[in-house]
Amino acid sequence: MAISLIIKNGTVVSIGGVMKTDVLIQGEKIRALGASESFPKMERVIDAEGKIVIPGGVDPHTHLEHPYLVNESKETWDVGTAALAIGGTTTTIDFAIQEKGKSLLDAVKSQFTKAEKLSAIDYTTTPILTDLTDLDTELDQIKEVIDYGVPSFKIYTIFRQRGLYVNDWQLYSILRRVSELGGLMTIHAENGLIGEEMQVELVKRGKTDPKYWSIAKPNFVENMDIQKIMMLAEELGTKTYIVHTSTREGPGIIDSYRKKGLPVFCETCHHYLWLTDETFDPKFPRGIMYMCSPPLRKQADIEALWEGVKAGTVHTVGSDHVAYTMAKKKENSETFITIPNGLPGCEVRVPIVFQEGVLKRGVSLERFVEVVSTNAAKIFGLYPKKGVIAPGSDADIVILDPDKKHSLNAADLHMGTDLSVFEGMEVTGWPVATILRGKVIAEDDKFTGMAGEGQFVKGKLQKKYT
Ligand SMILES: [Zn+2]
Repeated sequence: MAISLIIKNGTVVSIGGVMKTDVLIQGEKIRALGASESFPKMERVIDAEGKIVIPGGVDPHTHLEHPYLVNESKETWDVGTAALAIGGTTTTIDFAIQEKGKSLLDAVKSQFTKAEKLSAIDYTTTPILTDLTDLDTELDQIKEVIDYGVPSFKIYTIFRQRGLYVNDWQLYSILRRVSELGGLMTIHAENGLIGEEMQVELVKRGKTDPKYWSIAKPNFVENMDIQKIMMLAEELGTKTYIVHTSTREGPGIIDSYRKKGLPVFCETCHHYLWLTDETFDPKFPRGIMYMCSPPLRKQADIEALWEGVKAGTVHTVGSDHVAYTMAKKKENSETFITIPNGLPGCEVRVPIVFQEGVLKRGVSLERFVEVVSTNAAKIFGLYPKKGVIAPGSDADIVILDPDKKHSLNAADLHMGTDLSVFEGMEVTGWPVATILRGKVIAEDDKFTGMAGEGQFVKGKLQKKYT
C-alpha cells in the first residue's frame, strides 16, 4: 500500500534542473515540491540529506524470460524486476517475441500474463515481428497493438538462423505501415548478410574463439545498416529508434538525420559505455560470458558514445538485459556462433551511468536523468506519468547515495544468474531507496516490494516529444 511520504533535504533533479527541495507524495502520486514546512503531516519522512533524488529509472530494453534458440533464460519476471528495483529502475519496457502462427497482440498478451502475476515494477513491452511469411497479414496486426496501448515495435536486420532477419522490402513495408499509424519502430541494426557470412567464414578457418565475434561484426557492419534504416526513415517519415548503438560513428549518423528534422533516436547500453573487446582475449578465461550483439568495441568507441551522451545525440541508455547462467553460456560454446548472446545488467544500469558518466566524465545530473529515465518515457509515450518528478506524475522516485560503494560481483547482485560481466569491479553511487507509485519497493539493497504489484503502463506517442 502506498502511504503518504515526504522526502526531505535531497538534491532533486526535476523539470527546470537540479534543486534542493522537498517532495510530497500522497498515495501513488507526487503532489508537490517545495519546503516541507508547508506540507501536511505525513506518515513517513525520509531524510535525503546528501543524496540525489531522481525519477525512477525507465529501462527501454530488457529481455526477461527471453528464449534464445533452444535456450531459455532461467530468470523469471519476479526475480528480474526485483533486481531492477534494487538498481533504481521502476519501469521496464520488455520485448515480446511473436510466435509463428500467432498474432502480435497474442505476443503482447502472453507477455502481460506473466508480468501481471510477477512484475514488481511497472512495465510495458515492444512486440518483435517474426512471422513475415504473409507480410500483409503481419502488417494488418500492427494497428490493434497500438490501440491496445503498445505503440512500439521491433525488428532485426540480422539473425537469419534465428528467424528474425527482415529483408529490405520487409523493412521498407514495416517502416511504412508504422509511420502511417504513428507508431515507433525500434530496430536492431547490423548487416545480416555480411555479419553472418563473416562468422561462417571465420569458423571454417578454425577461428572459433569468442574474440572473433567482434572481428566478424566490425563497426561498419552496424553502421551501414543504421545508415540504410535512416534513409528509409527519412523517405517514409517513420519515428525510428536504433537499439543498442555500439559504434563511435552511430550517434553521428543518426544525428545527421535528426538535424534534418526527423524523429529518430539513438539508444546505447551501459556495457558499451564501459567494457571493451579486450575481454574476449583468450588470456581472459571468461571470454564467453561477454558474447552480446553488437559485440563490445574499443575504448575510442566508448569515449565517442559518452560524447554523444553529453551532446544529447545518445538519447537513452538501455540495459539489453538477458540473464543466462554461466552453464547456459558454456553449453553451446564449441564455436562463438552458438554461444547465447546477451549480458545481465538491468540492476547495474543506473549506477554505472552515474559513476562512469557523472562522476568520471562530468555528465550533468540533468543529462544523466534524461538518459536513464526521462527520454525513454518520452520516446515510448509514457511521459509525464513516468520519467519526471513533478506534481501529478506517478511517485516513482529513486534516492541515490553518490558516495555509496557497491560491488558488482554476481554474489552481491540480485539478477537471476550466477555471472556478472563486471565481476571484480565496483561502483561508487548506488540507490538507497526505490519508490514505485508511493511505495518503497527497495531499500538499502533489499527488495521490499511484491511480485505482481507492477502495472501495465499504456503508451501514447506524442508529437512534441520527437
Ligand atoms: Zn536486446
